[in-house]
Amino acid sequence: MTTTRSSRSPLTRRHFLGHLGAIGGSSLVMSALSSWDLMAAEAGKRPELSGRPSKAKVLVLGAGLSGLALSYELSKLGYDYQILEARDRVGGLVWTIRGGATHTEIGGERQTCKFDEGQYVNAGPWRIPYSHTGILGYCRELGVPMEMFVNEAENSYFYYEGAEAGSLAAKRVRLREIKADIFGQVNELLVKAIDQHALDLPMTAEDQEQLVRFLSNHGYLDLKDHRYKAFVDRGPGDPYKLSALLGAGFGNRLRSVPQAEGTQAGTMFQPVGGMDQIPKAFARALGPNRITHNAEVQTIRQDDHTATVVYRDTKSGKTQTVTADYVVICLPMSILAGIDCQLSPETMAEVRGTRVSNSAKVGLAMKRRFWEEDDEIFGGHLYSNLPIGEFSYPSTGYFSRKGVLLGLYANGPVGDLMNKSVAERVEHVLLHSSKVHPQIRREFESAYGVWWQKVEYSRGGYASGPPARRALLSKMENRLLIGSAVTAPYSQPDWQEGAIAAAWQALTSLHQRAMSA
Ligand SMILES: Cc1cc2nc3c(=O)[nH]c(=O)nc-3n(C[C@H](O)[C@H](O)[C@H](O)COP(=O)(O)OP(=O)(O)OC[C@H]3O[C@@H](n4cnc5c(N)ncnc54)[C@H](O)[C@@H]3O)c2cc1C
Repeated sequence: MTTTRSSRSPLTRRHFLGHLGAIGGSSLVMSALSSWDLMAAEAGKRPELSGRPSKAKVLVLGAGLSGLALSYELSKLGYDYQILEARDRVGGLVWTIRGGATHTEIGGERQTCKFDEGQYVNAGPWRIPYSHTGILGYCRELGVPMEMFVNEAENSYFYYEGAEAGSLAAKRVRLREIKADIFGQVNELLVKAIDQHALDLPMTAEDQEQLVRFLSNHGYLDLKDHRYKAFVDRGPGDPYKLSALLGAGFGNRLRSVPQAEGTQAGTMFQPVGGMDQIPKAFARALGPNRITHNAEVQTIRQDDHTATVVYRDTKSGKTQTVTADYVVICLPMSILAGIDCQLSPETMAEVRGTRVSNSAKVGLAMKRRFWEEDDEIFGGHLYSNLPIGEFSYPSTGYFSRKGVLLGLYANGPVGDLMNKSVAERVEHVLLHSSKVHPQIRREFESAYGVWWQKVEYSRGGYASGPPARRALLSKMENRLLIGSAVTAPYSQPDWQEGAIAAAWQALTSLHQRAMSA
């Protein structure tokens, strides 16, 4: 504690903090805690279970991340289990598109990927925040090599169209210019106000001096006259006017610290070579005979003694019947809604009521990494209001010749693009992205797009829903239990962490039930 010398406002530092607390500090702390409680992003702690039940044959439906993580833990506990998976690959939404990948849209066209060897785009998950310790723990345990995913690159462009962007409409402005000019000018204003005693600050002269020093350093102000001027690290050119930057809405993207999740999150990771390295590592750990592929589940029934699943072998067209003591359903809710399943009518109503995202991604293979060579952009995103959602640069293969851009990433409809032909969709992406990168048409090689609502065995992207619905869906009903990400108790289901959290929850319920049988 320091005793102040100011005659103007003889407050001690303790008083100063106390004063702030009285104004709003404690209520801020309270609201921060309660919102943290709500958002808690991690899967929690991996359950530590023991004991081996006598009757313990389990069928896991779906080899997405939830089904794989659950099976991996079941194997550790010594359960006899089998996964039924409709596709000929594992991972579900975790799908990395490489040359040769192919799919036919529901009611639509067939695409075959023409990317070069080593090039890829993640059609589903593509980044993992450092706070998602459940999924990252498995990456460590299963030996999946990881690298940094770059969310924010200072050289990225902002590009806003429309009258609301004012004098900066349809102009490429670098993130570093925006940060420098906004913080610099705001800080200059604050310093001016402090110097002129225009702010009634409950601070000592010494505290005010320190605040001025901080604002000057932070905003790169001239240390003598405390004015903001062009400076080397901002890059060439005159500063943009504060009113123009704020008016364009650029400032709304800036944060004091990175968010925990999403496009503005700080440290994030991706598996080297594509997100599907995670489900592939799980599948290797399970061994060769635990997953039955091309097994399209059609009926799920139960009685007091057993659970029965009927599936269609999509290769032979024949139906097969399998029985087990328990069935854990790790399917998308959009698929379960159409399956003849003996969960209670109330639960099935919740299944049908679950919202699934209308996600789409388009990968654009480029002959040349012009964003690196011409624009010095290494990873990160374009910030725009163009109708392409997120547009992103690869966080891998820097300084190599070719690369795959994420030309479009949307989690809602982009006009009626979903109902257009594949060629029309690609043209839409090239048309809009070439406003920022005119080289894009010349360097364009091929594209691959995934509209998840039109993908069989997914019929939508990630699930979402209020905690109450998630809790209801997670209840074990005699021998049946839902274990896919939609039931995530802690993390939101729209992350792989949600799939892990859901798997752990299902494992705990199942084991308790099996041990008491
Ligand atoms: C576009 C997009 C971007 C995302 N971005 C991120 C991200 O950056 N980071 C992140 O952590 N998460 C992200 N996610 C979320 C993440 O992908 C999901 O939360 C997670 O993969 C869900 O796993 P799951 O096992 O619950 O479901 P799914 O992956 O849907 O698995 C279900 C499985 O069931 C199988 N199946 C379907 N029908 C049948 C049937 N009839 N019979 C047998 N099997 C069947 C499917 O083939 C699939 O393997 C993203 C999702 C999307 C769509």
